[in-house]
Amino acid sequence: MSRIVFVNGEYLPEAEAKISIFDRGFLMADGVYEVTSVLDGKLIDFAGHTKRLQRSLDELEMRAYCDMDELLAIHRELVDLNEINEGLVYLQVTRGAPNDRDFVFPDPETTPPTMVLFTQNIPNLADSAASKKGNKIISIEDLRWHRRDIKTVQLLYPSMGKMIAKKAGADDAWLVEDGMVTEGTSNNAYIVKGNKIITRQLSNDILHGITRAAVLRFAREAQMVVEERSFSMDEAKEADEAFTTSASAFVMPVIEVDGVMLGDGTPGPIAKRLREIYLEESRKTAI
Ligand code: PMP
Repeated sequence: MSRIVFVNGEYLPEAEAKISIFDRGFLMADGVYEVTSVLDGKLIDFAGHTKRLQRSLDELEMRAYCDMDELLAIHRELVDLNEINEGLVYLQVTRGAPNDRDFVFPDPETTPPTMVLFTQNIPNLADSAASKKGNKIISIEDLRWHRRDIKTVQLLYPSMGKMIAKKAGADDAWLVEDGMVTEGTSNNAYIVKGNKIITRQLSNDILHGITRAAVLRFAREAQMVVEERSFSMDEAKEADEAFTTSASAFVMPVIEVDGVMLGDGTPGPIAKRLREIYLEESRKTAI
């Protein structure tokens, strides 16, 4: 079955979907995105993703393609059309396609935003093999721009970071700036020491993860101690355990940092427990 995607108001087989070569998303990475996970055919934390989408658009003075109710209807239609039980919905909004390349923003009255959505079918998303094994991570310098709180499609450096990690025999990279970990290439980073969960505080230096917000809420509700502050790789190497969070991998245990094994080299109890709680609670409020 060919995947049906959404492009500017139309539901089309993926091979027929087209956007202009002048689209600013293509030419200038002038676009924002969201990834929402699907479990049991339902959207996880949709309200969180639409709220962050609106914030990203506002920060870049971009228009939304449609209102958030319509966006929910489009997500649901794509999940139905593609028969997604477990997987992801990717959404991208760009500043549209003016009729030429120009650094100056086009007039939004004459250049409407472009919006594209597609689904990814991932049958074992919740029960992934990687989550049982845990990830090995290395650290690299954080060379990204300084508005990481905006979820833009400028993903070249995170993509390079992932490749550096793969070449080094690891699964992913954590990014380090001024001696402190900011976040992972596509996730928020955490260490656990003496039952304390430590993760960097929110600022423009990191993406305000939707999964991060939910996991910290669930951790506090379960009487776990959470400390929102920066930590270094030296501290990470001394940690009892570590993990990352993202909408596409939920809570992912980390078993090795820069070649140092954490604990007994298997996913730690707090990461495992948080993954269970996150999946259980998120399924309850999925729409
Ligand atoms: N940080 C970065 C840099 C990311 O790319 C992502 C995932 N897109 C996250 C954190 C996690 O955010 P979320 O939990 O909303 O997926």
